[in-house]
Amino acid sequence: MPNQFPLIADTGLSEKDPSLYALLQEEEQRQRAKLPLIPSENYVSRAVREATGSVLTNKYSEGYVNRRYYEGQQVIDKVEQLAVDRAKAVFGVDHANVQPYSGSPANLAIYAAFLKPGDTVMGMALPMGGHLTHGWNVSVTGSWFKSVQYSVSRQHGRIDYDEVRGLAKQTRPKLLFCGGTAIPRQIDFAAFADIANEIDAILVADIAHIAGLIAGGAHPSPVGHAPVISTTTHKTLRGPRGAMLMSTGEYAGALDKAVFPGLQGGPHNHTTAAIAVCLHEASQPEFKVYAQQVVRNARVLAEELMDRGFDLVSGGTDNHLILINLTSKDILGKPAAKALDKAGIVSNYNTIPYDTRKPFNPSGLRIGTPAVTSRGMGEAEMRLLARYIDEAIEAAKRNSEIELARIAEQVADLAEQFPAPGL
Ligand SMILES: *Cc1c(COP(=O)(O)O)cnc(C)c1O
Repeated sequence: MPNQFPLIADTGLSEKDPSLYALLQEEEQRQRAKLPLIPSENYVSRAVREATGSVLTNKYSEGYVNRRYYEGQQVIDKVEQLAVDRAKAVFGVDHANVQPYSGSPANLAIYAAFLKPGDTVMGMALPMGGHLTHGWNVSVTGSWFKSVQYSVSRQHGRIDYDEVRGLAKQTRPKLLFCGGTAIPRQIDFAAFADIANEIDAILVADIAHIAGLIAGGAHPSPVGHAPVISTTTHKTLRGPRGAMLMSTGEYAGALDKAVFPGLQGGPHNHTTAAIAVCLHEASQPEFKVYAQQVVRNARVLAEELMDRGFDLVSGGTDNHLILINLTSKDILGKPAAKALDKAGIVSNYNTIPYDTRKPFNPSGLRIGTPAVTSRGMGEAEMRLLARYIDEAIEAAKRNSEIELARIAEQVADLAEQFPAPGL
């Protein structure tokens, strides 16, 4: 039977737009050959890509299921309802909105739902591991709203809940964000809920990074603690680039109104379909195995790196993410990340808590295991990766391009043994 949803290889793109086609080929080759250790990246299945490339991109459907402003929604309504029902089932929530275009607009919708400009929001500071949209000053969330930012402890690199409570009581934010982009430890949602209750704030759990771990039972869930939950769908959840807002019934109406018509127009229906597919995949037993393996791999990679003298923020990890403080290795984050890329390992430089350096050339390196675990790698491969990372960083310090090229060959061999899924 012919493929009903032809993908890149047979759509005629190569003839219609050879320049763009060549770039796609090039990127596909890069994704095959290199090993992504960027903790926010993953490989989606072919099924998710089929839905993303489907005819649903042709349809306008402002509004929500059974409440649209355009005709012709017979199928779209069913697609969106399927995605919503699956989100509610996978995460165990009362309400889900699958329309936000991505994580940042989803978070902005939360501000639009509950705050007026000038009201106070509290979130983790960006250099401490928080996200821009949690009130950091270069984001509109930090300039249109009064923003209070909490830190991690200087001693142990983890959240000090008493300190967060003190700051919350002193500044009384209306919204309290927990979660972030560079947090290597589990988040104590119950502790955050206690603090939010004491000051009558709405607690938002931003689970963008860990949604897949939560769906797979490898990280505690915020449900029952945080009445509002925000997530992207393209990180550990392994879906298309998109986002969801989930909540208790109490906040459903306000959030829906904030997304549409508050901030957005027509939903990206092809993305909605792909979200439905990824949620179906996330409800399968294999996904539990995947999520557990992501965490186990991160732990082994962390231990192995520490054995090699690497200094990890908070002294390790209990999720998918590892934040390395490179100060003791006498190299900065950016040259380290560039050298690793030459060696075929893709990571990103990152600030570390209390970094004395600027975000564009910080002291840290952020890595994670979601994508390499999707390729089927396990503990043995994590030990190899730790060795390659160590060797590449030593090679970078000696400026040895030859050594980096040698490591790149070994990484390419490893990549070949564990083909990228979905390509
Ligand atoms: C990735 C991320 C976002 C933003 O997602 P985009 O899709 O990049 O806009 C928001 N919050 C957290 C915690 C994230 O990790």
